[in-house]
Amino acid sequence: MISFQKLGLEPTLLQAISDLGFKQPSEIQQKVIPMLLTETTDLVALAQTGTGKTAAFGFPLLQSIDARSRSVQGLILTPTRELCLQISNELRLYAKYVKGLKIVSVYGGASISEQAKTIRSGAQIAVATPGRLKDMIERKLLDISKIEYCILDEADEMLNMGFYDDIMNILSYTPKNKLTWLFSATMPSEVEAIARKFMMNPAQITVGARNTGIDTVRHEYYVVGGRDRYEALKRLADANPGIFSVVFCRTKRDTQKVAEKLIGDGYNAGALHGDLSQNQRDLVMGAFRKNQIQLLVATDVAARGIDVDDITHVINYQLPDEIETYTHRSGRTGRAGKSGVSMVIITRSEHGKIKRIEKKINQKFEEKPIPSGLEICEIQLYHLANRIKNTEIDEAITGFLPAIADVLEGLDRNELIKKIFTVEFSRYYSYYQKKRELNSGSVKSGAGDYSSNGDSVRFFINLGERDGFDWKSLKDFLKKKLNLERDDLYKVDVKDSFSFFNTDSAFSGQVVESLASFKLDGRTIKVEISNAPGSGRRSKGQKGRKRNYDASGPKKRSRGKSKKSGRPKNKQKKGFY
Ligand code: AMP
Repeated sequence: MISFQKLGLEPTLLQAISDLGFKQPSEIQQKVIPMLLTETTDLVALAQTGTGKTAAFGFPLLQSIDARSRSVQGLILTPTRELCLQISNELRLYAKYVKGLKIVSVYGGASISEQAKTIRSGAQIAVATPGRLKDMIERKLLDISKIEYCILDEADEMLNMGFYDDIMNILSYTPKNKLTWLFSATMPSEVEAIARKFMMNPAQITVGARNTGIDTVRHEYYVVGGRDRYEALKRLADANPGIFSVVFCRTKRDTQKVAEKLIGDGYNAGALHGDLSQNQRDLVMGAFRKNQIQLLVATDVAARGIDVDDITHVINYQLPDEIETYTHRSGRTGRAGKSGVSMVIITRSEHGKIKRIEKKINQKFEEKPIPSGLEICEIQLYHLANRIKNTEIDEAITGFLPAIADVLEGLDRNELIKKIFTVEFSRYYSYYQKKRELNSGSVKSGAGDYSSNGDSVRFFINLGERDGFDWKSLKDFLKKKLNLERDDLYKVDVKDSFSFFNTDSAFSGQVVESLASFKLDGRTIKVEISNAPGSGRRSKGQKGRKRNYDASGPKKRSRGKSKKSGRPKNKQKKGFY
C-alpha cells in the first residue's frame, strides 16, 4: 500500500492530508503526484470527476509555488462557477499550513472589483472560469503573462460549453515556458488540438476506463406536427417517471413559455434564461440540483453553467440553429460514467438536420414514436406499484390505522389494490383516452417498427436503475443472458425499478424460458409480455391519425380530471388509438 508520505510531499501538506482524513492516495494521485514533483513536464491526464484529480494537481502545484512572492504563478481554468468554487475550497484546505498562500476565485456573477482586490493583495493561484478570466485580462485586472503553471480542468467540458475560442485566447496571453497540465474525462479532437498547440511532449496518464463519451449517450428523435411539440414533450416526460432533464428551447421567450405551461400543468419545471437575474438563476439552479425541479427548460447560453452529473435526459424541444450546439446540449447527459438519452422533437421538414447532426457526431439517431397513451398509463402504473413496494413505512401512520381500517372495512385485498391504482390510473387514463396519436407520420417507412420482420414483442422486466442498470448495461446483460445478438434486442427503456425491451417474436419463447426462475442477488426476476397494444408493432396505425389538437395534459399533482382538457375538435375513436 503506497502512502502519501512516499509520494514526496512536504510536511505542511502531509499535515493537511492527515487533517482531511485521506488515508491513501487514489490511483491518479499515485501516478501524477510523484511525476509532477520530480519532472518538469506537461501532462495530459484522462480522469473523471471523483477520482481525486484536484489533489493530484493541487498538491504538486502548492509545493511548487513560491508563497513569499505576491504574483499569480498558477492558473486553473475550469468550466463552471460551481467547479471554480469547489476547487478553490479544496485547495484552501490542502494549503491550510502553507503560510502566506492566497487563492483567488475568478468567476462571473460576483463582484469583479472584489476579485481584483484579492489579486492585488497578492494571490499566487487563480482558479477561473473562461468568460470572467478573459474579461479580467482584457481589463488588465489580472496579468497571466508570468504564470509558471497552467491547469486545464475538465477540458472536454469547457469545450462542450463552447469555450474553445475563449481558451485559445486566454492561452495566448500565457508565457511559452510555463508547464501545462490538462485533465479531461474524454479526448475529443478539440482537446487534442489544444494539447498539440499549447503543450510540449506531454506525459500521458489514464485512470480507470477511458471513456470516449461516445456510447454513453443514445440519440433519439420523434417526428410530430409543429403544433404538437408541447404535447409531445409532456408525453416524453410522462413516459419517464424518474426523468431529470434539461429541455432546450431556441429562444428566451419559448423557454419561459414552455416552463410556464409545464408548471401550469403540474410538472416540477423551471426556466433558465438570460432575462432572469443572477439571483433568480441561482434559485432555479439550486432547486434543480436538489432535484426539486425535474424539467429544467433552458436556452443554450444559460445552460452553459450546468454542471449537474445525473441528468437522465436532454430534450431538444427545438433543434438548435447551429449543429455544433447539439453536441453541447447532448453532452449535458451521459456524464461521470453514467449513460443518458438525448431526445429531439422534430417536424418532418427538419429531418435533413438530423442527417447532418449524425454526420457531425458520427453516431446514428433512432427514430421513435411518441409513446401512446396506454403505454404511458402502463409505465405510470408499474412505477406506482414499485414506489409503493419500495416505500419505507412511516411509523407515525400507525396511530391513524384504526380509523383508516374503519373507512376501508369490507374491501378485500384485490379490491383495495384496484381502488388504489384507479386513483392514480384514472388521471392518466381519462386524459390520454381522449387523445389522438401524435406521431405525424414517420420520415422513413416502417419507422417505429423496431423489428426486422415487422413482428415484435415488448417485454416488461422487474430490473431497473435501482439495480444499477441503464439502457446500455441492461441491453448488454440481457444479450448475454438470452444469448442474443446486439440487433435482436432493441428499444431498451430503463425506468426506476423496471424496464421494457423488445425482441422479434421468434425469440419470445427463448426470452421467457431463459429468464424463468432466474434470480439476481437472491431476488426473483420476472419477465412478462407487456400488455400495451401497439407496444410491439408500433408502426401500425401511426399514420393518418385524425388531428385533434389540445395542448393541455393530465395535471400531474392535482387529482381528478384536468380542467383544461378541452373538447375534441374532431370525432375520436373510442378507447386508445
Ligand atoms: P475530485 O476528483 O478532485 O473532485 O475529488 C473527489 C473527492 O474526493 C473530493 O471531495 C476530495 O476531497 C476527495 N479525495 C481526494 N483525494 C482523496 C483521497 N486520497 N482519499 C480520500 N478522499 C479523497
